[in-house]
Amino acid sequence: MEKRELLYEGKAKRLFYTDDKDLLISEFKDDLTAFNGEKKSSEAGKGALNNKISTELFKLLDSKGVPTHFVEMLDDNHMLHKKVDVIMIEVIVRNIATGSLTRTLGIKDGTVLPFTLVEFDFKNDDLGDPKLNDQHCIILGLVDDVAELDTLRKMAREINDILLPYFADKGLNLVDFKLEFGKDSNGDIILADEISPDNCRFWDMETGEKMDKDRFRQGLGGLKVAYEQVLERILGSKQ
Ligand code: 5GP
Repeated sequence: MEKRELLYEGKAKRLFYTDDKDLLISEFKDDLTAFNGEKKSSEAGKGALNNKISTELFKLLDSKGVPTHFVEMLDDNHMLHKKVDVIMIEVIVRNIATGSLTRTLGIKDGTVLPFTLVEFDFKNDDLGDPKLNDQHCIILGLVDDVAELDTLRKMAREINDILLPYFADKGLNLVDFKLEFGKDSNGDIILADEISPDNCRFWDMETGEKMDKDRFRQGLGGLKVAYEQVLERILGSKQ
């Protein structure tokens, strides 16, 4: 499948049409941004690592019955996937408190949450991705009804129930992550976007070392080595 004209360029990916109206190609970029685009950099090879990590995780989720947009990895930087109408909600799943949760609510960093927290952020850079409650989602017309929000919450928990033990087995704590969903040509809600260290937090279970984009956000260095390790651990014990 060949790339045709550019549909959209985001911070981490370019999206291209294909000859099939129901399929798109994502090109994973090496660009890194944080703090709503205020901090920018680039890391050669980062895009390919995220494409490979996402491919493995989409395959895992597919094999467990989670519907995703994934079709196939085309080459190092390109993924073929279904075209969806993106739901403009970032679904945030948290097992351990850190990041914006500790900043906004004062929960001590590293606190294991009594249950998995699922939150909604408005996918809107101009507004800085603010938090949403169910009523906001309906008023903004982001979903048709509360039942769709319940579907997002249910799918997010199912995905966490698969990924949390999967990464624990690889010595990584899945601290939190961001998911995006869309509606396919049948109107069904499926998982979209990517699952990578750009939008997940992984902490090494032994050392506590951060193995994700926080290395860039916090200026820790060693981002590529960390992403490579995440991929190696995934590939090392492929099921
Ligand atoms: P926080 O709200 O603490 O900044 O982020 C929670 C989790 O969601 C982290 O794993 C973070 O990587 C992910 N996340 C939240 N918002 C975004 C976003 O706009 N872009 C990306 N790539 N990840 C996000």
